[in-house]
Amino acid sequence: MTDSWPARADVGGVSIATGHLIGGEWVGSPDTFDTRSPLDWDAGPLAQIARGNEETAATAVAAAVDGFAVWGAMSVADRADAMHRLADLIEGRTEDIAVAESLDMGFLENSMRERLVGRGALNFRTYADLIVTHEERVWDAKSMYNAVQRMPAGPTVVITPWNAPFMLSTWKLAPALAAGNSVIHKPAEWSPLTASILAELTVEAGFPPGAYNLVQGIGEEVGAALVADDRLRRITFTGSPETARHIGVAAAKNIVPFTAELGGKGPLVVFADADLDAAAKKAAWQVDDSGQVCLAGTRLLVDASIYDEFLERFHHHTDELVLGDSRNPNTDIAPCVHPDHRDRIDGFVKRARENGDEILRGGHPVEGSLHYEPTLIAPKSNDSEVVQSEIFGPVLTIQTFASEAEAVELANSTEYGLSAIVYTTSRERAERVGRAIRAGLVWVNTFLVRDLTAPFGGCGISGIGREGGDHALEFHSDLKTLMILDDSTT
Ligand code: NAD
Repeated sequence: MTDSWPARADVGGVSIATGHLIGGEWVGSPDTFDTRSPLDWDAGPLAQIARGNEETAATAVAAAVDGFAVWGAMSVADRADAMHRLADLIEGRTEDIAVAESLDMGFLENSMRERLVGRGALNFRTYADLIVTHEERVWDAKSMYNAVQRMPAGPTVVITPWNAPFMLSTWKLAPALAAGNSVIHKPAEWSPLTASILAELTVEAGFPPGAYNLVQGIGEEVGAALVADDRLRRITFTGSPETARHIGVAAAKNIVPFTAELGGKGPLVVFADADLDAAAKKAAWQVDDSGQVCLAGTRLLVDASIYDEFLERFHHHTDELVLGDSRNPNTDIAPCVHPDHRDRIDGFVKRARENGDEILRGGHPVEGSLHYEPTLIAPKSNDSEVVQSEIFGPVLTIQTFASEAEAVELANSTEYGLSAIVYTTSRERAERVGRAIRAGLVWVNTFLVRDLTAPFGGCGISGIGREGGDHALEFHSDLKTLMILDDSTT
């Protein structure tokens, strides 16, 4: 119980507000929850964070309704300026964000410093630029002047997961704010800290009170209360399919559009004509960040004729990966986020053993830390649980194929459809296979790099809707067609 708000915690030398930011004020809750560091779990809580409840949710939505009246009415130029100021401030706090996220979630500190904090700033810049360059579609038809206007939709709840929390939060918040919606951000309870830094920066950047609201707490508590509020106009969620089903029900009750960016079980397909070493290296690297990456290619599908050579190279590259403390610049593999998550990963591997799947390497938790060994499993069949379910850990499966048709069939054989990686040196095959795979994103001979204006999202249980560029802006807007009869006005 914390009785003085605003309360702050010292996290690795970074001072972090532990309350909610509602209507521009830091406020608390009668209860708190602990966040612990995966880098030193037994050291006790890193911080005690306000545990939002139904009242918090109701107050935050009311603030977002007020905030929308101001933020939604601002010119796009003013909104874009505020977002660029926020991006500048993010860049100025790179070190703090990297240190806090690494301690809170276990993310590799150097990756934060060198890539993900900058990407967070870029997310705001990209959307700031998109709104100022947007041109309305205007045309003549049916003896009328037609114009399509994007109207800001209204108060929006943004719910984010624990993996890569800073980058993913900015990716979801930027289009909502750019469209003119006010937001209530609910970060995950396993990694809540960098959202607080972001919240403070929105105040510093001059966002009007209530434009950006932060609510901390447990998903089933304050998260569920938020998504049930009938004053919302949009809900956007990134997380697991299980939670999406709950949120979808709440959204349907109030007829609120919602998008869901969910799990993945991506194939990494290696053809005999591929640059084998590049493919094997990329396959080995699918387990950095402990495989806690929705886009990871976790099902290795390899042409049978090159299987032995591929496997040898895969082992070689995996042997080179350094498992360690995320603060150490030499570390390649971070620990798992939470003991419960590591146990969940281990549960999949134990059931695979019982099922008769062959563990080709790894397969155990690491003593003395929250790491899990990089693990490779040759499944008994394509129906094995380790092939069909997202494990979200450093566990890959490997299967062979005899033809291109079989490779595509295996690639498309799960309920997921978020992303895929293909290795081939044939341009024709790249086009053919890339187009035949059912997924929101297919990378050929590369991974993760993409233009932020491209659509991003999944098929099947990997999600509903598309983020990225104009796709997210259209979701966060109400489109209106204005029609004026020709010659009826002067
Ligand atoms: P999760 O579904 O458990 O939680 C996500 C968020 O939802 C958290 O903030 C949580 O507090 C909240 N939540 C939980 N129950 C809720 C409820 N009833 N109502 C409202 N909010 C609720 O997911 P997670 O374990 O945090 O994240 C891992 C999952 O996210 C994986 O499946 C991963 O693949 C997926 N993911 C997808 C993408 C993508 O872009 N497609 C990106 C990152 C992670």
